[in-house]
Amino acid sequence: TDSDTADEAVRATCDDASICKRFATSKGYWKDPYIQYFVRQIGERKAPEINRGYYARVHGVSHLLDSFLRKTTCDCQVVNLGAGLDTTFWRLKDENLLPKKYFEVDFPMIVARKLHNIKTKPPLSKPIIEMHSTDSLLIDGHSLDSDRYCIIGADLRDLPGLEDKLKKFQMNPDLPTVFLSECVLVYMTPEQSTKLVHWAADTFPTAMFVNYEQVNMADRFGQVMIENLQRRQCNLAGVEVCQSLDSQKERFLLSGWENADALDMMTVYGVLPQEDVARMERLEFLDEKELLQQLLQHYCICWAAKDRLKLGLSQIAF
Ligand code: SAM
Repeated sequence: TDSDTADEAVRATCDDASICKRFATSKGYWKDPYIQYFVRQIGERKAPEINRGYYARVHGVSHLLDSFLRKTTCDCQVVNLGAGLDTTFWRLKDENLLPKKYFEVDFPMIVARKLHNIKTKPPLSKPIIEMHSTDSLLIDGHSLDSDRYCIIGADLRDLPGLEDKLKKFQMNPDLPTVFLSECVLVYMTPEQSTKLVHWAADTFPTAMFVNYEQVNMADRFGQVMIENLQRRQCNLAGVEVCQSLDSQKERFLLSGWENADALDMMTVYGVLPQEDVARMERLEFLDEKELLQQLLQHYCICWAAKDRLKLGLSQIAF
């Protein structure tokens, strides 16, 4: 059916993200020793502005995530929604920043692929086994459960199903919890993403939500971005919310979150540690400065918090 085709196209986006991250790390934009186990080939060259865009995305999201982990002294949970082949769990392990439990959710078909890689690549499986107290590690075709890392196959548009599975794997709503969604909500209708965001606010009294996706999509450049994705059968059902930074914040402020902030990636690029930005900019010559600016102005990070335990989550910023 059409909706199967659309879901399949959405699932394919997880390869795009990982292939681009694999290429950028092979050029030294940032370090990720684990992505090679999910994407074997370095693949064809990506334009420097794409690599710089991914640099800002990866550093922007991890800045907010790491700030939350430090604020809660890792006495918390992470829930990565639509995680795809993301490698953050292994980075946090290496940096001694693992939360009490790190959860990931994606479509069962994507999870099955991720689990296959984990099962067959010791550099991926060893850290999970190391952090696990017993020999009985649950790993089947579409889920993994260990003491510190849990991967769940579920559809984010089915909230009762999602909640059931998270509960089954000992998610604790009373622990401070950070939700991540990187280029995920745009594939759901505004109603579906609002419900998800609302559910998170209602279920977790002390929480933060970090969302990275498109913004300012109403202008000419935005229209071209939309057309490019549509050409690949991708249904950008949520693109309405990607009109402005204000509409991004509103999604949270109108669904139970106490405060929300949003920055476009041009701004984020300017506030990331500039020494490393300068190092990164020397890696590849960039001819088209304007194209990079355009690209960065069409993505944003929006983050929202609610803070029953008064940990000072509203102070988390750039
Ligand atoms: N967050 C990862 C990253 O940034 O590398 C992957 C991003 S990829 C563009 C979008 C991911 O969201 C895909 O892995 C897709 O399968 C997942 N996704 C989209 N809609 C979903 C849904 N309704 N339920 C579960 N996963 C979904």
